[in-house]
Amino acid sequence: MLKGKTALVTGSTSGIGLGIAKALARQGANIVLNGFGDSEGPKAEVAALGVKVGYHGADMGKPADIEAMMKYVAQEFGRTDILVNNAGIQHVSSIEDFPPERWDAILAINLTSAFHTTRLALPAMKKANWGRIINVASVHGLVASAQKSAYVAAKHGIVGFTKVTALETATTGITCNAICPGWVLTPLVQKQVDAKAAAMGLSNEEAKKQLLAEKEPSLQFTTPEELGELAVFFCSEAAKNVRGVAWNMDGGWAAQ
Ligand code: NAD
Repeated sequence: MLKGKTALVTGSTSGIGLGIAKALARQGANIVLNGFGDSEGPKAEVAALGVKVGYHGADMGKPADIEAMMKYVAQEFGRTDILVNNAGIQHVSSIEDFPPERWDAILAINLTSAFHTTRLALPAMKKANWGRIINVASVHGLVASAQKSAYVAAKHGIVGFTKVTALETATTGITCNAICPGWVLTPLVQKQVDAKAAAMGLSNEEAKKQLLAEKEPSLQFTTPEELGELAVFFCSEAAKNVRGVAWNMDGGWAAQ
């Protein structure tokens, strides 16, 4: 379905981003990975699916790095046909104890980076009259939780940015939508499980159960594979008139 297209997935050396990259690769899309840590393992996992794979180590908190990454994709792959803005970080703390530099980093990585990638990807998408922009927001783009001020602000922001992007491209073959996961058991959430286990003297399994029970009625984690399949749907021909939605896959979290 996506043979000949190139997908850039930010923050894809781990977790949800890697799950989405692999799902798009299974549909034939060439993939550009981005993120910190080991890149060789993720590159090999995607290459095993029979597509061309690239990697750029841009820090998504740095606009100059983002420009360099977008140039790399244009030079090596022709253009970014599918842009998945997924890179994200978390910090859990009350507002009065929230370190200002963590606030700035969360806003830069979880929100502003999507402005930069989108503004740089749109001209070539418009020329081709085809594009798919998928913003990985969160159920925290729709509802709030205490102790997550920067994250909730950034995720509500990216849901708004998704709508504006969808409106500005509404008469073209480019669509922009957001995915809003509930709990997904990635390194980002494992840190929160570990913190709960330590604070309450719980085992890893008990802490996971409690985390789910507080927010997610299904009592189940969503998986990167399931989120990958939603991204594939957004890239399909059938979804060409799905524009500006914030689609939650959250076990009923936001339905409460
Ligand atoms: P993760 O920690 O497994 O992966 C995050 C990825 O982003 C990694 O590849 C990491 O290297 C990369 N990254 C972090 N900072 C970066 C930076 N400055 N520049 C470039 N790359 C950077 O986390 P995840 O859970 O897979 O999160 C992915 C996205 O999904 C985030 O936007 C997160 O907010 C969102 N999300 C996660 C959950 C969840 O429960 N895990 C729920 C809702 C939304």
